[in-house]
Amino acid sequence: MTSEQQRVVVIGGGLAGLRLAERLGGSPAVRVAVLGEEPHAPYNRVLLAEVLAGRYAPEVAALPEPGPVLRRGVRAVRIDRADRTVHCDDGSTEPYDTLVLATGSNAVLPPLRGLFAPGGALAASAPGRELPDGVHAFRTMEDCLALSAAVAAGPAVRAVVIGGGLLGVSAARALAERGAQVVLAQQGERLMERQLDEGAAALLHAHLAGLGIEIHTECRVRGLTTTAAAVPAGSEAGTGPAGRRRVTGVELADGYRLDADVVVLACGVRPRAGLARAAGLEVRTGIVVDDLLRTSDPAIHAIGDCAEHAGRVYGLAGAALEQADALAAVLAGTGPGPRLPRAGGPEPASAPARYTGTRALTRLTLSAGGDGPLDVAAFGETDPLPGDDVLRLSDATRRTYRKVVVRGDRLVGGVLLGELSSVAALARSWEDEEALTDLFHLITDDGGS
Ligand SMILES: Cc1cc2nc3c(=O)[nH]c(=O)nc-3n(C[C@H](O)[C@H](O)[C@H](O)COP(=O)(O)OP(=O)(O)OC[C@H]3O[C@@H](n4cnc5c(N)ncnc54)[C@H](O)[C@@H]3O)c2cc1C
Repeated sequence: MTSEQQRVVVIGGGLAGLRLAERLGGSPAVRVAVLGEEPHAPYNRVLLAEVLAGRYAPEVAALPEPGPVLRRGVRAVRIDRADRTVHCDDGSTEPYDTLVLATGSNAVLPPLRGLFAPGGALAASAPGRELPDGVHAFRTMEDCLALSAAVAAGPAVRAVVIGGGLLGVSAARALAERGAQVVLAQQGERLMERQLDEGAAALLHAHLAGLGIEIHTECRVRGLTTTAAAVPAGSEAGTGPAGRRRVTGVELADGYRLDADVVVLACGVRPRAGLARAAGLEVRTGIVVDDLLRTSDPAIHAIGDCAEHAGRVYGLAGAALEQADALAAVLAGTGPGPRLPRAGGPEPASAPARYTGTRALTRLTLSAGGDGPLDVAAFGETDPLPGDDVLRLSDATRRTYRKVVVRGDRLVGGVLLGELSSVAALARSWEDEEALTDLFHLITDDGGS
């Protein structure tokens, strides 16, 4: 490293952190180090459901390996802002000129009776805080491989997925594809409430039911039932899972009990902001950042799922990548227009060095089943305000549904199921805030996409 080089330390070797490292990699002005606590090769979480379904090998989900800049299996445990140093769990330290928090999010663990052993200590790592065997979140490659091993254990494994959002739906579909008997318990009125309206959710519900998934909406899970976990044959006294528990079922609020060999907790995610909070940075839901993606300490930035910009935490891959790109431009000192070279992708016409928010499109493909795959896409505001116009085309036989919401002469949101050929043109019109001239053509035609 030369004395003029800026030391950029990135905490988090996920989608956002590695994209930033890739963007900065070509710049002689910076030396980048990425701290990644996960021992696995870096991977794209968006593909975990396909890995669980057995469609992709874990290697297919790999992100480009950034080489020695990534220190795998190293967790940052403390930030010393006065010394501009990050302390790691292996005792090492990383001095920085600029620090970037790209720590992602954690799965929310719902307050279920029986989830933790009674009287378990409060520290997440303490023995009483361990999840019972068979209970998994759906956030990491580790979760995915553990779930995969559980369903591979035999035919007709009974799985209960708690949560009917994007993660729960993806997990339920993947488990069903692996031959598990799946029950999906959703507390809300419909599936994927954040993205889908009633009509679209009903089609999705029918599709999943067609895959053999039993779906309960407006269904609150109250607790888990567990038993002492079996000690594996051959393990020495004291080295087996003594004191460990194994899940046996799920109790619903109405008193009904479902037997379960596997339980998936898909109850949302929460930005991982503990390090930032401990360092005295401003944290609301996420780590608060401005349009330069700076936290309340100008030497520290935050991007991806852990960041909160203009009151919004996105929790989506598209936003994580856009924030990484915008921060790379900020750190490289490029103004509006030019930006760092883009590896393996077309150069956008212009890229602002200020981040002004992401227009995030949610897209999901639910493959498998005799009816073939079902594609789902949603963007913007899918629930109209008074005075908005709504155009809806629905065909239950062909399992297609398209709805767009129009305010004045602008498209403000839409949801499409089944037939997505028009989604690119619609999303473009929404992103560019174009004045609409022929909406019907846009919704029925592929718009040249
Ligand atoms: C199963 C699943 C399906 C998804 N599907 C979609 C989808 O269809 N569309 C979509 O847009 N988004 C989807 N997402 C969300 C998407 O994956 C995230 O928005 C994206 O990964 C965010 O990137 P990130 O870099 O902010 O966080 P992450 O990818 O989570 O990376 C953060 C990394 O930081 C590491 N880390 C945290 N703290 C420390 C520390 N102290 N020291 C060292 N390392 C640390 C973590 O271990 C992790 O590897 C999905 C997520 C999951 C889990």
